Amino acid sequence: MRKKIAILGSTGSIGTQALEVTEKLSEKFEIIALSAGNNIHLLKEQIRKFSPKYVSVKNETDTIELKKEFPNINILYGNEGLIELATLNEIDTLLVAVSGKIGLKPTIEAIKKKKNIALANKETLVMAGDIVMKLARENNVQILPVDSEHSAIFQCINGGKNVKKLIITASGGPFRTSNKEELQNANLDKALAHPRWNMGKKITVDSATLMNKGLEVIEAHHLFNFDYEDIKVVIHPQSYVHSAVEFVDGSIIAQIGIPSMHIPIQYALTYPDRVEGIETESFDFIKAAKLEFYEPDYEKFPSLSLAFKAGKLGGTYPVCMNAANEEAVFAFLDKKIKYLDIYKITKSIFDDYKSIDNPTLDQILEEDEKVRELTKKIIKKYEENQ
Ligand code: NDP
Ligand code: MG
Repeated sequence: MRKKIAILGSTGSIGTQALEVTEKLSEKFEIIALSAGNNIHLLKEQIRKFSPKYVSVKNETDTIELKKEFPNINILYGNEGLIELATLNEIDTLLVAVSGKIGLKPTIEAIKKKKNIALANKETLVMAGDIVMKLARENNVQILPVDSEHSAIFQCINGGKNVKKLIITASGGPFRTSNKEELQNANLDKALAHPRWNMGKKITVDSATLMNKGLEVIEAHHLFNFDYEDIKVVIHPQSYVHSAVEFVDGSIIAQIGIPSMHIPIQYALTYPDRVEGIETESFDFIKAAKLEFYEPDYEKFPSLSLAFKAGKLGGTYPVCMNAANEEAVFAFLDKKIKYLDIYKITKSIFDDYKSIDNPTLDQILEEDEKVRELTKKIIKKYEENQ
C-alpha cells in the first residue's frame, strides 16, 4: 500500500523538494493533495504531473481558472482549504511546508485526526509548542521533524534516555565573518546569498541574522522536551554535521551527511524505514577533510540571545518575538528597512511586551495579530525617517 500524502505549501522550497522525493519513490507514495499560495503556474504543473484529488490555493479568485482547467479535482481556498486538506480521511501523512503562522491550525486539526505529521513549518512549534506537543501526546501522534537539525537530533536521540545535551549546529550564514561596518551596510542581495542552503526568502534572512537558529532552539525545546540550559548552538560552516546529542556517559552521536534537504524530508516521509532515495552520492570524509566548530558571536548576532530569552520566559514571548521578527524581515525584503533594523525593531517590541501565561490557541493568534500591527506601525516610522 502506498502512503497517501498531502503537502501544504507544495510550491515552496521544501514542498518542491518533497515532490522530488515522492516522484523518485513513487512506488511508496501517492500524492492526494497539494496546496499553493500565489504560484498558480507551478501548481498547475504539479497537478498535471502528480494528479492530486484535492488542491487548495490562497485566494478564491484563483479557483475559477483552476476549476475550468481541472474539472475533476476538488479546488479549495484560504485557511479553511488548508484545514480541509490536512484532515482528509484518505490521507496518512501531512507534510506542513507552508511558511508562517498559517501552518498552525491545519497541523492541530490533523493531529486531532491522528494523521502522521511531517513538520517543516517551525512557526507551529515556536508559537504554540506546548499546545501542539500536548495534543500530539494525547492523540499518540508522532511529530516527525523535517528541519535538518531536528531530523538529525531525532535520528541520534534514540528514545531520549540518558541524554545530557542537544547540540544544534548552524552554518553561520552569509555574515559569519563580516565586521560591524559590513553588517551596517548589509543589503538584501548579500543577506539572501546563503553559503549552504537554498531556501525560501524569509528563512534565508533569518539564517543571516541567526534568528533561524533561535527559532530552532525553541523548536528543539518543544520537540524533544529539553530545558534551554541543555541546548547548545555551535557554528559549523561546512554544514556536514547536522546536529548532535551528548549522552550522560560522555558519548556524542552526531548525524552527518551532505547538506541536502531531500534527506530529512525523505526520512520524515519514510520513517521508520530508510530507503535508497534521491541522494545516492556518499558523503566523502576525505574530500570534506576539515570540519570547523566555533562559539556563536552573540554580540554580532543578538537575535540568537533574544530567542533563548523568549523561550526561557515562555508564555507568549516567543509569539511576540516571532511575529515582530517576521514583519521586520518582510519589511527588509521590501527594502523598507535596513538589515540591522530587523533586530532593533524586534527587540524594541519585545522589551515593551506583556506576555500571557499558559495562553490558549485563540490568545496566541490574537497576540500574534496585535504584535504584527504594532510592528507595522514602527516600520512606517523607520521608513519616514530614512
Ligand atoms: P517558501 O517561501 O519557499 O514556501 C512557502 C510555501 O507556503 C509556498 O508553497 C507558498 O506558496 C506557501 N504559502 C505562503 N503563504 C501562504 C498562504 N497565505 N496561503 C497558502 N499558502 C501559502 O518557504 P520554505 O519552503 O523555505 O519554508 C517553508 C517552511 O519550512 C517554513 O516554515 C520554514 O521555516 C521551514 N523550513 C524550511 C527549510 C528550507 O530549507 N527551506 C528548512 C527547515 C525549515 P506560493 O509560493 O505559491 O506563494
Ligand atoms: Mg534548519
